[in-house]
Amino acid sequence: MARLEPSGRRLRATLTDGAEIETDVVVVGIGAVPEVGWLTGSGIEVGDGVLCDERGRTSVADVWAVGDVAAWLGSDGRRRVEHWTNAGEQARVVARDMLGLPCQETVVPYFWSDQYDLKLQVFGDVTPSAEVRLEEDDGRRFLATCVTDGRLMAVVAAGMAGKAARLRRRIGEPVGVAR
Ligand SMILES: Cc1cc2nc3c(=O)[nH]c(=O)nc-3n(C[C@H](O)[C@H](O)[C@H](O)COP(=O)(O)OP(=O)(O)OC[C@H]3O[C@@H](n4cnc5c(N)ncnc54)[C@H](O)[C@@H]3O)c2cc1C
Repeated sequence: MARLEPSGRRLRATLTDGAEIETDVVVVGIGAVPEVGWLTGSGIEVGDGVLCDERGRTSVADVWAVGDVAAWLGSDGRRRVEHWTNAGEQARVVARDMLGLPCQETVVPYFWSDQYDLKLQVFGDVTPSAEVRLEEDDGRRFLATCVTDGRLMAVVAAGMAGKAARLRRRIGEPVGVAR
């Protein structure tokens, strides 16, 4: 969007290609930039956030990072996840690592949005190449799974919190395994 201005009781958005759209509501998604400048000279490797391994360890011994600023190593490289539960799950993994305890816990990216009485939830990574399977759909509530290479990679649900949470535990497993 190049410009936003009042147009009577509405708004007029001018796009970068010159197109104009009259609208009542504008949702601005500007993203976030991790603040890592203060780490300059510390020896801690930074990029898009603090670069960590799959346990939150940074390039400096005995320094870990969690949450929005931490780019943990995953199957698709290093990536930051800016969601509330992620910060807590990563903290649990790091606490065990600090204590030298083994940790089987997998940090599964998760976010939700409450749209009036409908809870939208996404567990795991939804990638463009995944096969999307609509498991349940009653016209309003639905549950879909994303499968890559025969493994469950993500669960997308609306109004089906219980079923979605149960499937979350199976993310990473081959699909079709009875339990
Ligand atoms: C408007 C908004 C809505 C959101 N809604 C959702 C949602 O619905 N669901 C969801 O899952 N996530 C949501 N998030 C994301 C979620 O809030 C974050 O993922 C989560 O808070 C990250 O936790 P954190 O501990 O990494 O960082 P933060 O919660 O940002 O905590 C970092 C803390 O460090 C402090 N700090 C920063 N710099 C310094 C410094 N130099 N010295 C000392 N202290 C410092 C900050 O003041 C802050 O208190 C939302 C975020 C925003 C901004």
